Amino acid sequence: MYAEVIINNNAKALNRIFDYLVPKELENDIKVGARVFVPFGNSKKLEDGFVINLKEESEFANKDNIKFKEIAKIEKEQVLTENNITLAKLMARKYFCNISDCIKLMLPPGTGAKILENRTKEKTGNFVYLKLDKDEIEFRIEEQKIKSDKQIRALRFLEENDGIYIADLELLADVTRAVLKTLEKNGYIEIVEKQIERNPFINKKVERDEPKQLTQEQEKCFNGINFCIENDEFCKSLIHGITGSGKTEIYLQLIQKVLEKGKDAIILVPEISLTPQMVDRFLARFGDNSVAVLHSKLSIGERYDEWQKITKGEKRIVIGARSAIFAPVRNLGIIIIDEEHDMSYKSDMAPRYNAKDLAKYMAEKANCPLVLGSATPEISTMYLAKENEYALYTLTKRANNASLPNVEIVDLRNELALGNRSMLSFKLQEEIKKNLENKKQTILFLNRRGYSTFIMCRDCGYVAKCKNCNISLTYHMSENKLKCHYCGFEQSTIKVCPECNSSKVKYFGTGTQKLEDEVHKLFPDASTIRMDIDTVSKKNSHEEILNKFKDENIDILIGTQMVVKGHHFPNVTLVGVVSADSSLNLEDYRAVERTFQTLVQVAGRAGREEYGNVIIQTYNPDHYAIIDSQKQDYNLFYNQEVSLRKMLKYPPFCDIIMISFSGKDISEIQKISNLVYSKLKSVINDDIFVFKPVPSPIDKIKNKYRWRIIIKCKVTSNVLNMINYAIEDEKIKKCKETRIIVDINPNTMS
Ligand code: ADP
Ligand code: ZN
Ligand code: ZN
Repeated sequence: MYAEVIINNNAKALNRIFDYLVPKELENDIKVGARVFVPFGNSKKLEDGFVINLKEESEFANKDNIKFKEIAKIEKEQVLTENNITLAKLMARKYFCNISDCIKLMLPPGTGAKILENRTKEKTGNFVYLKLDKDEIEFRIEEQKIKSDKQIRALRFLEENDGIYIADLELLADVTRAVLKTLEKNGYIEIVEKQIERNPFINKKVERDEPKQLTQEQEKCFNGINFCIENDEFCKSLIHGITGSGKTEIYLQLIQKVLEKGKDAIILVPEISLTPQMVDRFLARFGDNSVAVLHSKLSIGERYDEWQKITKGEKRIVIGARSAIFAPVRNLGIIIIDEEHDMSYKSDMAPRYNAKDLAKYMAEKANCPLVLGSATPEISTMYLAKENEYALYTLTKRANNASLPNVEIVDLRNELALGNRSMLSFKLQEEIKKNLENKKQTILFLNRRGYSTFIMCRDCGYVAKCKNCNISLTYHMSENKLKCHYCGFEQSTIKVCPECNSSKVKYFGTGTQKLEDEVHKLFPDASTIRMDIDTVSKKNSHEEILNKFKDENIDILIGTQMVVKGHHFPNVTLVGVVSADSSLNLEDYRAVERTFQTLVQVAGRAGREEYGNVIIQTYNPDHYAIIDSQKQDYNLFYNQEVSLRKMLKYPPFCDIIMISFSGKDISEIQKISNLVYSKLKSVINDDIFVFKPVPSPIDKIKNKYRWRIIIKCKVTSNVLNMINYAIEDEKIKKCKETRIIVDINPNTMS
């Protein structure tokens, strides 16, 4: 008997399937999904891997008189099921990635380390956090700024398990304290002394609550989906309900039914909405013994504990962000995806999967309902609902009878004419003033961080750009530095133009830092708090900033996208959108949709309990996304957007497949992209649009050139085959400098 084995290792050369002989005495124990230890190459150390197939004959047996090695050992406790392996194989093909990367998502956190069970019982401990993001670290490793194998090992381990207890890290990544100290000294990691709390989302007492009497709208939806639960049927539903219309109450009551059937539930929410308040709703209904929370803020030990409890069936409700779709529930009875329009359900990193697609696949296999919910469903989802692919349930009323806010549009072109050069219109200034007098809170939303967005010489037109990326640098006043938002590059600010020596260097554009500055000048007595990537850090989390805003009754919260989700602020009665246009002009086909979604959500932040005012400032007051968001009219927006998409052939009428090529050698990129293009053209029918390779809108990031080919068509099995064929060329494999990534309906098109 032979076993096909995937080695559990990141090295590129190992990313294939290897055939091993199964020794006679192991034949009865071995199963697909088993973790095995095998000899590899000349190394004495055994490598671990997973069996993905068993077969009587090997195709390689007759070739090149290969001598097969034998499997040395099988791990007793098998964590992966045959279903997991089937899914991993399917994902690898669909998302153009390695099977081993997919398998990793399905393994318990910290696999391979039993030691986790003997974690310290101390009250405080040192935890290790990365100070740079994953891309940045990989970039430095590639640039050979980090050379030591041990340092690289520790950093890579942290990429997957940020915020780990220091002793766990030493054991799991097999590094010494000295290595970590060096990394700390060089600014790659920080070591923070923290309370060792068990799951911070679950350790407090929550008062229990009872199911509410459903409204008619809610009941219709509940009954429709409950029918599938009772009959063990697969069904897909979309709940379109404004914020506060009682979607969560429906989820809770459906889960109750699923539990009564002896089955388990998975609820996905966007990472940023996964707050203690959100989790409390579930704890209040079901108690903390039955709810597992999977969250990136948990330590690896905590995630491991949750994983174990789910596996054993001790916890039957799982709430988590995207990757919780892989939670090892024993008997799946429902998958709920809240805020289904959120971008975070699609992964930007390999495997570039979409959790919504996988949820559909899993629910179908498990014969259970898939429920999507949102106040502003993705255009593509709503389209499917209108085509009867999904059952559509609409909730039009707020369950607690709170009224919707009053939304007003301010045309910024008039402000200029009135001589107002500030970022805040007279109208918004006036409302802020009123709010301050009434001791109410205000949120100001601006989707750009930093102080000024670009720096230009008025004499010669020179724009300060990043030396690694073809993108302008943003001025950050608090540090008096120019920063690249793509690669993190920083330099000191310039006063004289490096091209023409002119001193007429001017700062253009705005960001949250500048906004905060202006607010201080206009309202010197108001207290403010800012929330953007620059103020949110490991020690000062998103959660903590929002708590501070709420608990200390700070007058004005200024922030980027981050302020849109999560908390419920009863005292916020005014929301100002400082510039609604910043995302409208992007060339991404979803830019308009996202602007609308964001505006509706931001508006939903105002006046949850009493009256609320929203002011949207814009240079495009006639744009339908702006007008429709003022009216809070999703259907109007949907109809306009869908007819445009149909005309331009964008999703849902076809998929956008982006094949990107990146590397340092531009001539190699051109060669390969042309090769892939001609191969595609030779196999793909004429009715499919394949665009010639061109530079990406941002054609250089982190010193790497970027080109791309775009294909517009419906993704079918046939299309997947053709793309796989086009990129798996031998000639391409020899060009080692160029990375090829295939992404289906990517989150960003830049
Ligand atoms: P959504 O998830 O759509 O934002 P929620 O389920 O959170 O809405 O409901 C908003 C508020 O209304 C919550 O406080 C919830 O407890 C309450 N609520 C929901 N459904 C009902 C109901 N049928 N009767 C009374 N209150 C309800
Ligand atoms: Zn100049
Ligand atoms: Zn850069």
